[in-house]
Amino acid sequence: MADPYGFLQHDRADAEKRPAAERRSDWREVYRDLPPETRDAQVRTQATRCMDCGVPFCHSGSAGCPLGNLIPEWNDLVRRGDWGLASDRLHATNNFPEFTGRLCPAPCEAACVLAISHDAGGAVAIKRVEQAIADVSWEQGLVRPTQSHVSSGKRVAVVGSGPAGLAAAQQLTRAGHEVTVHERDDRLGGLLRYGIPEFKMEKKVLDRRLAQLRKEGTKFVTGCEVGVDVTVEQLRERFDAVVLAVGALRGRDDTTTPGRDLAGIHLAMEHLVPANRACEGDGAPSVDAAGKHVVIIGGGDTGADCFGTAVRQGAASVLQLDQYPRPPARRDDERSPWPVWPWVLRTYPAHEEAGERRFAVAVERFIGDEDGHVRQIRLRKVRVERDASGRRVVVPTSEEVEVLPADLVLLAIGFEGVEHMPLLDGLGVGLTPRGTIPCGSDWQTRAPGVFVCGDAHRGASLVVWAIAEGRSVAHAVDAFLTGSSDLPSPVIPN
Ligand code: SF4
Repeated sequence: MADPYGFLQHDRADAEKRPAAERRSDWREVYRDLPPETRDAQVRTQATRCMDCGVPFCHSGSAGCPLGNLIPEWNDLVRRGDWGLASDRLHATNNFPEFTGRLCPAPCEAACVLAISHDAGGAVAIKRVEQAIADVSWEQGLVRPTQSHVSSGKRVAVVGSGPAGLAAAQQLTRAGHEVTVHERDDRLGGLLRYGIPEFKMEKKVLDRRLAQLRKEGTKFVTGCEVGVDVTVEQLRERFDAVVLAVGALRGRDDTTTPGRDLAGIHLAMEHLVPANRACEGDGAPSVDAAGKHVVIIGGGDTGADCFGTAVRQGAASVLQLDQYPRPPARRDDERSPWPVWPWVLRTYPAHEEAGERRFAVAVERFIGDEDGHVRQIRLRKVRVERDASGRRVVVPTSEEVEVLPADLVLLAIGFEGVEHMPLLDGLGVGLTPRGTIPCGSDWQTRAPGVFVCGDAHRGASLVVWAIAEGRSVAHAVDAFLTGSSDLPSPVIPN
């Protein structure tokens, strides 16, 4: 039973970050590594703030946790210092809480009842509690391989080793299937490896979880592009079911702004992937911000990742542009006092380290030098309006035309679905108008026995959704192979 008055005695306290000056000079995670006893005491206090609501909005539903994390349950266990049981209850719904604890923007916290009013001291620091449970679990050896004691004799190919593919693979291996994950890159992890910067999640966090999956029996093949290195026919012949977890990595480009063809203008991933590779010891990055005036176009998560990466690479200046107006710190809407994620201003740790953000602006033209390299941007104020069909459109205003230095421009304006790959043509799964892979209510694509999950199905989204879809697709595949399944299925296809 939770302490119903805990939130009246303790204010929310977020995890402490390392000083910005220190962060700028290394790639280690942003948050301070506290001595375990200090961290545990602080987190127990934060968990005490949970009221164990009769209807816990944090736990599921349209605004809460897609995984259905048992948040009030493990908050209370942490409050009482029972980290072992808290670890069990957390892992009951989430394969990789150390990923979500670090990377998820926490829709659960936006949905927390205590977020309604500032007087309540703010939402329960759920994400902080989650990460602490996960970290304690690893420190105390509570995360052990879970061996399956049954064998179905069925073989499953998972294509892609990002969070959706890994969650599906772990669930299916534990259900007794022989699972092989195929990764086209040289290392495992997909976006977790080469998209997410080290300062948000150090790769050792990923590697220790991969070691657990290996010990459980999941097989991995790297440097293997299915559809090229393994033909579709071979795939069909060798496996009883296929799970496509190939992500949605086709970056949206700027096809209209004059000067886009100048050298020095790159999609965000052309910056983040080599930077992550450099952290892995693969040599100097091919797109390096060192000494450059960097302009990032796009105000979201990926833009913030480029921001922090450029700062650490030693950029001369970093400027992030957002065409939308600066959102309020809280939604100012009397009909709904709830602070609705993500329609409030999100400040990322990277923004505290250096640089500048500007809102309600757009690049009118990229200006190059005689060698054809971008050197400046011409900026104009814009406003966002609805067109006749209700679609949001960006309209330039006559206000403030400014010319600013720009030696490196990074386009972080979203993703347009899955990359074109021979595998998808060979399987004949088709694409939706959004560039994602369509599926039925059982996660099965147009190709019988071929399933899809994660960003490849949903479009670029949160790591928590990827894990939730990976778990759900595992249930569907297990049922397809054996006739029924006891595996959990937290979400349905959208
Ligand atoms: Fe606890 Fe907030 Fe969830 Fe209520 S909504 S159970 S206070 S975390």
